[in-house]
Amino acid sequence: MRRREPEDRRDQLLRAALAALSETGIEAFTLAEVARRADVSPALVVHYFGDRDNLIEATFRQLVERVTTRPIKALADGASPEERLRAFVLEHLNPGELSSEASRAWLSFWGLALHVPALARLQRVHQERMISNLKHELRNLVLPEAVSRIAETIGALIDGFWLRAALASAWKPDVQIPVDWIFAAIERDLASHRLPAGVEAGRAAEAEFETINPATGEVLATIRIDGQAEIDKAVAKAAAAQRDWARTPGVERGRILNRAAQLLVENNERLARLEAQDTGKPIQETIAVDVLSGADCIEYFGGLARTIAGEHHDLGPAAFGYTRREPLGVVAGIGAWNYPIQIACWKSAPALACGNAMLFKPAELTPLTAIELEKIYTQAGLPDGLFQVVQGKAETGQMLSRHPGIAKVSLTGEVGTGKKVMADASATLKLVTLELGGKSALIVFEDADLDEAVSGALLANFYSAGEVCTNGTRVFVHHSVQKAFLAKLKARTEAMIIGDPLDPLTQMGALISQGHMERVLHYIELGQQQGATLLTGGHRVTAGALAKGAFIAPTIFTDCTDDMTIVREEIFGPVMSVLTFEEEEEVVTRANATDLGLAAGIFTNNLTRAHRVIAALEAGTCWINTYNITPIELPFGGNKQSGLGRENGKAAIEYFTQLKTVYVAMDKIDAPY
Ligand code: NDP
Repeated sequence: MRRREPEDRRDQLLRAALAALSETGIEAFTLAEVARRADVSPALVVHYFGDRDNLIEATFRQLVERVTTRPIKALADGASPEERLRAFVLEHLNPGELSSEASRAWLSFWGLALHVPALARLQRVHQERMISNLKHELRNLVLPEAVSRIAETIGALIDGFWLRAALASAWKPDVQIPVDWIFAAIERDLASHRLPAGVEAGRAAEAEFETINPATGEVLATIRIDGQAEIDKAVAKAAAAQRDWARTPGVERGRILNRAAQLLVENNERLARLEAQDTGKPIQETIAVDVLSGADCIEYFGGLARTIAGEHHDLGPAAFGYTRREPLGVVAGIGAWNYPIQIACWKSAPALACGNAMLFKPAELTPLTAIELEKIYTQAGLPDGLFQVVQGKAETGQMLSRHPGIAKVSLTGEVGTGKKVMADASATLKLVTLELGGKSALIVFEDADLDEAVSGALLANFYSAGEVCTNGTRVFVHHSVQKAFLAKLKARTEAMIIGDPLDPLTQMGALISQGHMERVLHYIELGQQQGATLLTGGHRVTAGALAKGAFIAPTIFTDCTDDMTIVREEIFGPVMSVLTFEEEEEVVTRANATDLGLAAGIFTNNLTRAHRVIAALEAGTCWINTYNITPIELPFGGNKQSGLGRENGKAAIEYFTQLKTVYVAMDKIDAPY
């Protein structure tokens, strides 16, 4: 018989918890009751969830996932906004779910959310998500002023039916009557507020958004949102420009890119300051890395542009064949907020070198430096239309991944976003490159140089306030050196300077937003609840002017176990989990026990072991005796659910070109007819 794996076991316990909540209610809900239903010992439930509160939260988290999975899938499947809206509502009122244990547990969830902040947060996120999905489809159907009201009304009706299903024990599971009623109401509302013919659908109801300095709360700029009409126009302009660009010799394309790289270097100080203000990262980082690594990338692909070539194949005296490496056409880049200008460069440089045009959407939280990059490309002589920045939120990104005139999307973002982009891109069979999240392992063996290993762990967790995709947040330390390692780690962490990002002495700045800070603090709370020991940090930093910003002290947890939420999920903040191991094989198995596979690092002075362990680790980018170094010459990307495709290095050329195969006959055709 197959041994029950931890994930199966967790799911089994959560199923038992849901059944208990539904049947006996919250009052009688105990760990012992859940253990009894799952036919396991109460200690096992404690092992997985710590205490009753954690179990309740995990159960509701899973319930929210269950309730939303089908409606969200229905959104991806529908062909028109109207169809998607209808399917979304129908799936929310799915009779099977409404009449199931889920609806009774849902009632407990709402009741508890009144008193438990973590559940209130979960409930708020769920509702915001539902309303935002409704609004997104409605924007394509009705006038902007009607969008919010109709979305809120549908949301309230859905919530109402769920609660009623739970409360009215005699209520029939037949939802046809309420569903018909909702649709009749929607139809009436749609009829009186429908977008008039000729009005561009997709123009976002919200026409602009503000970008905020997360260190001070100050508004830096107001940005106009691009809707479908603007995206269509940008694609047409890019397509026209790309036709000539594709015919421009690589050497000339390369010269323009080299000029752009030079201009970036010349503007480093100004751009680094802007990036520090938009992201909250310390200027000592943005001035040394963000802009310059972007410039380095453009210079690298500027050099490669003249080398892009196909192959010749000798097929004997009567024929030969060759391949042409051709551009894809108009491609899209969608960026995350942690390395805004670097990501814009990493995507645009290979795209342009290969003869494509690129539409680039920066993250809504960090829209500013991509605009500067567009200006720099223009100043360097890049023909108009070849690199255009489009601005907006997820909806604008979606317009890119769904656009029939775009041949490829390269996204840097969360795993969930990657899945949505891939689903959207599939309708037009676009190529996708996905640079997604991670939960990477950093392994410190007993023979490692401990000072070096501590440097690696600090870089792997606290650079950019921990907002780095490749971060090695699961630090496995051999038990024999753990005590010494932790002493050094604690001392050096507590000496870090946290403060105003624009002060050159600051080593750690603000997190990207107040909302993200809340999320990270919630993970810290969970770490403590689930039994990890806080070695240092674990709180906001609010001294003086920092109180206005999103600052968290660098945080280290020890006594962590593999099943803790902080060890399993990407936190994307300054939170390190330290774990202990005994054997090489054991640590490799534990390091690989995740669906993610972005990066990994090891510290050891044993050469043979270094290569043996690296070969066994399931990760796309690995380091031996260092961490988080990503030279442009080396391909970069993730395995498993951390991504598809590679950026940087010569490998990136393959992801921005397509092959054409040509057979050339040198002799008469030997026709049998
Ligand atoms: P998100 O996935 O939230 O957003 C990434 C980009 O996608 C943003 O521009 C966002 O717009 C846009 N977007 C969101 N939803 C959709 C959609 N449905 N269709 C199209 N576009 C969409 O990531 P974050 O910005 O929060 O960045 C953090 C994440 O990025 C972390 O998981 C991190 O690990 C990962 N990352 C991965 C890297 C890698 O190279 N592997 C490097 C850096 C970060 P909007 O801003 O409006 O939400």
